[in-house]
Amino acid sequence: MAEDYYELLGVERRASAEEIKKAYRKQAVKYHPDKNQGDKAAEEKFKQISQAYEVLSDPKKRSTYDQFGTAAFQPGGGMGNNFSGQAAGGFQNPFDLFKEVFGGMGGFGDFFGGQTDFFGQQNSSGGPRSGNSLRYDLEITLREAFAGTEKTITYRRPIPCSKCGGNGCAPGKNPETCPSCRGRGVMVTSRGMFQMSQTCSRCGGTGKVIAHPCEGCGGKGCVQGRHSICLRIPAGVETGTQLRSAGGGECGGPGASPGDLYVVIHVKEDQLFLREGNGLSISVAVPFSVLVLGGEVEVPTLDGHGMLKIPAGTQSGTVFRLRGKGMPILNREQRGDQFVQTQVEVPDKLTKEQREKLETFAKSMGQASVEKVGFFQRMFR
Ligand SMILES: [Zn+2]
Ligand SMILES: [Zn+2]
Repeated sequence: MAEDYYELLGVERRASAEEIKKAYRKQAVKYHPDKNQGDKAAEEKFKQISQAYEVLSDPKKRSTYDQFGTAAFQPGGGMGNNFSGQAAGGFQNPFDLFKEVFGGMGGFGDFFGGQTDFFGQQNSSGGPRSGNSLRYDLEITLREAFAGTEKTITYRRPIPCSKCGGNGCAPGKNPETCPSCRGRGVMVTSRGMFQMSQTCSRCGGTGKVIAHPCEGCGGKGCVQGRHSICLRIPAGVETGTQLRSAGGGECGGPGASPGDLYVVIHVKEDQLFLREGNGLSISVAVPFSVLVLGGEVEVPTLDGHGMLKIPAGTQSGTVFRLRGKGMPILNREQRGDQFVQTQVEVPDKLTKEQREKLETFAKSMGQASVEKVGFFQRMFR
């Protein structure tokens, strides 16, 4: 159960926009993960504060919240889709929000050590860098998306240098402690009553320098190479689903962790089934006689086939639902539905006997014949 947004920020319900912003700043600094390393509770609190501020700082969202509470902002919540450009229940990244609020505030940055180094989650200049993340686009069939599958993908990326094992040093040598920062990775200077810390420019924040670089990689620790991974694709993925393979990105160099690989799924169109979300649609040809008299027809499904009961007097174009015969819902033991549209099947060849019987039938229905004239008579009656 989410906590009350006003309580989270420590403001009264009638607080002004300015008071809310002030309260957010105070709380966000207090619970920022960079100041509470490894403290899961603080991290969770930081997220909640961010959500609270995101809602209360927007007059429209705030009034929705005042009326409906947090339920309106949860996934699947009634009001979730009212905020354009946002998925239901989707909140902004708390770090982005943090930067947005603090970015415009002059002196604050100095206080916390230069730029956003101290707070930036993925800063470009501080600490041992991690490698860049990579994107890989993978096309799969609808049937693979239905059942889930495994794919081995091979792609080029910087991999750890085999000559030095990734540490960037010549044989027998090791990285040495950076003399400029004495291995701390940051340089701390005092300015008035404030302390400033900045990423060490000599070692780039790693705290280590390579005095004798490896010949294979020139000290970078990485070389260009091919990499294969076996990827498990869960049932229910759809076009746009991203799968993350931790550490599958670019090698980050000595002392750094590799980036991640993001595999973006593209599901090919199927010839038989049309997919919409978790639903599948198919149209089946049903003999005229079955539509009239009722009966059963076999309907293909992605896991075999099912029998569909056709009630007597069914019109062509009627849509039936086969519950639980659609696509699996990602990460759930549940499936969507399959929709079956009937299409009258007109025989293109009749025996003499069949034709006579049909003509007799048509006459009994009050039509002159099965020729066009009957059609026009009905049209202009
Ligand atoms: Zn090397
Ligand atoms: Zn250094």
